[in-house]
Amino acid sequence: METMITVQHLSKSFGTHEVLKDINFSVKKGEVVSIIGSSGSGKSTLLRCINLLEKPTGGEIIYKGENILDDKHNVNQYRTKLGMVFQQFNLFNNHDVLNNCMVGQVKVLKRSKEEAQKLAMKYLKVVGMDQYIHAKPKHLSGGQKQRVAIARALCMEPDVMLFDEPTSALDPEMVGEVLKVMKELAESGLTMLVVTHEMEFAREVSDRVVFMDKGVIAEEGIPEQIFNHPTQERTREFLKRTL
Ligand code: ADP
Ligand code: MG
Repeated sequence: METMITVQHLSKSFGTHEVLKDINFSVKKGEVVSIIGSSGSGKSTLLRCINLLEKPTGGEIIYKGENILDDKHNVNQYRTKLGMVFQQFNLFNNHDVLNNCMVGQVKVLKRSKEEAQKLAMKYLKVVGMDQYIHAKPKHLSGGQKQRVAIARALCMEPDVMLFDEPTSALDPEMVGEVLKVMKELAESGLTMLVVTHEMEFAREVSDRVVFMDKGVIAEEGIPEQIFNHPTQERTREFLKRTL
């Protein structure tokens, strides 16, 4: 299977604080990889380095065989290949649902409004939000907002979707509807890298689980290994605290 993203010897420091240390892993096409670990272990920073919201201090990020940290690489083009979903939705609050899903397509991908609208409707249907196209975000529940945010990212037809704790800001009763959409996307073959505290999701939906601790990958493996037969003491400790 084709490798989509490979991270090699990635490091990131903020001042003297080394937040990521020699991170190595890769995501293959169609794979769902969950990243778990305690708060402060560097999960968000890792995702933000991968989509270049943060500049890594060292190492390489290889996307389809090219090091995107090379100066000559077209960063903007690379960014359009990654969809990002944040904990806090980050919708445009002054735009309705449909427009939220169209703006990036028209401005960044230069699609016609007609084409953008067609794709927006397609992906709003995928997340079950096609009945709300004229609603403003403030009139939506958290779960609905997050589903629109997922549709908006899908509209760019990215190669890889990055999720940073997409359900952590939601009321408990809304977590399920978002996880259901993510599970369906995973089953449809989308390549996904998911930072999550939802251990049930990580166990059921992921092909692989990466456990981060204090800026390093402490253990990585299939869900069966990580959850049932962890080899590292710190993985066992983390799971004992979490499950
Ligand atoms: P996680 O997502 O696993 O909770 P983060 O990647 O958000 O962890 O943070 C890892 C560490 O990096 C934390 O100690 C955090 O305080 C620090 N950190 C994250 N972003 C910044 C920043 N912009 N400036 C300084 N320190 C940061
Ligand atoms: Mg985080």
